[in-house]
Amino acid sequence: MEVSRGTARSAPFTGSCKLMLKKTIADTLAREHGTIIKRGASHAVRIALVFPNTYYVGMSNLGFQTIYRHLNARDDVVCERAFLPEPADLQDLRKSRTPLFTYETGMALGDFDIVAFSISFENDYSNLIRILDLARIPVLAHDRTSFDPIILIGGAITYINPEPLADFSDVMVIGDGEETAYRYIDQYIEDKNKPRETHLQHTLNLDGMYVPAIRKFSTDEYNTSIDQVAKQQVSSFEDYPAYSGILTPDTEFGETMLIEISRGCPRRCRFCAVSYVYPKFRALKPETILNLIHAENERLERVGQPKVKAVGLVSSAMCDYPYLDELCAGLDTLDIRIGVSSVRVDLIPESLLNLMLKTGLRTMTIAPEAGSERLRKAINKPISSEQILTGAERILTKGIKNLKLYYMVGLPTETDEDIDELIEMTKALSQLQRIHGVPGGKLRLSINPFIPKALTPFQWSPMVAPKEIKRKLNYIMKSLRRTPGVDVKHESLKSAYFEGILSRGGRELSVFLLETVRQEGDWKRAADEIGMDTNAYLGDMADRETLPWDFISTDKEQHRLQWEYRKSHGLPHRSKGVERAESRVLSPE
Ligand code: SF4
Repeated sequence: MEVSRGTARSAPFTGSCKLMLKKTIADTLAREHGTIIKRGASHAVRIALVFPNTYYVGMSNLGFQTIYRHLNARDDVVCERAFLPEPADLQDLRKSRTPLFTYETGMALGDFDIVAFSISFENDYSNLIRILDLARIPVLAHDRTSFDPIILIGGAITYINPEPLADFSDVMVIGDGEETAYRYIDQYIEDKNKPRETHLQHTLNLDGMYVPAIRKFSTDEYNTSIDQVAKQQVSSFEDYPAYSGILTPDTEFGETMLIEISRGCPRRCRFCAVSYVYPKFRALKPETILNLIHAENERLERVGQPKVKAVGLVSSAMCDYPYLDELCAGLDTLDIRIGVSSVRVDLIPESLLNLMLKTGLRTMTIAPEAGSERLRKAINKPISSEQILTGAERILTKGIKNLKLYYMVGLPTETDEDIDELIEMTKALSQLQRIHGVPGGKLRLSINPFIPKALTPFQWSPMVAPKEIKRKLNYIMKSLRRTPGVDVKHESLKSAYFEGILSRGGRELSVFLLETVRQEGDWKRAADEIGMDTNAYLGDMADRETLPWDFISTDKEQHRLQWEYRKSHGLPHRSKGVERAESRVLSPE
């Protein structure tokens, strides 16, 4: 491989502080199984795949792991990884004026053909700016020249609302990236000796590719000629299984092999992007999953490593997975621990419960989301309180020791009575645990503010003010203080409201993001500095005629969202065929 192409941005491993960094990375790579080190032909396209957070967070991300393996599957591509350095390393980099480099070969990001970001969380947007700055690549797309790499953005955020990153990216992959990324690489190879502008023009014509500088979108006025970008879906889910190809203890899941057994969700809870942004619910066949584990075991055996010890089944709709009994029977024959995502407590089949208990799992995660039956109906998660209690009693009696419960506060139409019911439900669960559960079992409540997400029926709903959210959280914590075995936690409110702003903004937020980085993450001060009204993003959007993410949704999808919104608020439905602009007016008639 051409480790260095001899530019000023290369050769990072020189000087004392750089040796420290080199050692950190070398130690990290030594703990990995499955690292891909490719030499690649001289004409190979070189891609730096970047996760805009630390190694620990990035390598815990299944999408990042999958696209790394997928890009390297091409002979004409060499793909290496880079992450946001830990604070101490960050200081070293800055002090030594060393541009950020990749893990595999230490090549500076600026020397790659393409720097591809895989982004899953809005709160990582400012890290993208930090990383470009550390790599000495112009942060804004319009400042880049032919001497700079193409900055490509893909990942989960492109299914929902990628517009706040428009000014920082040259190209974006909208939706499933597997096939689209290959089409883009083919185009890149074809255009290799052409001017950057010509290449961007050609990219504009590829299905699923978004070139923000060329395809402009107005957020200010209703515009019937919005250029749509068709969100991509892989032609066969079976052909592109998502699993962690690199196992390392340095992730949230340790050396657990994660496998995405299904994508999307058929349940349509009105706050949840998973159900609305994926084109449809898709599931891997059990034999595909078992074959992946066998193949990984064979690979580990070849390099003298022990077999896979644990498998994490990733699914947003575990209990809707259509072949669950068959899969459990297959996994039961392997000597491995099994972990699962959250489950519907009323739907969990005996086969999964038994398998989890047999392999030592003692904590189960369930997500009632709202405390009362009325509110669960309004958010379209119509599970009754009785079903939750009966389901909990069943799993506690079976031997599941701890329950983790996810709730939100500030959901549309929520009242204090709903909060009271949440408290009563928790007390009832605690009592069930004392009567039927394993001694010492815990109920862990994770309660976070509702954040409205683009392309869900609640995309127009406001985020409840922080003062009110704090009042509700304090009330819950105070009311449950003396209930045995109950722990209540919530995420940082500051980060929740930052996410809220970025979730529903447009490309004008680039100024805000740049200032937030300048203010070292203090987004409130950044908003004050630039005179930005954050309520424009956190408030009610029901009277907005256009939304920044309109270009990745169809009229049909928007009508469906509007129908769901009106239903949840008990508003009369409009007849089919209303004009798009009119259909946005959501207030009562
Ligand atoms: S919250 Fe869960 S059950 Fe509801 S739509 Fe989302 S993934 Fe499906």
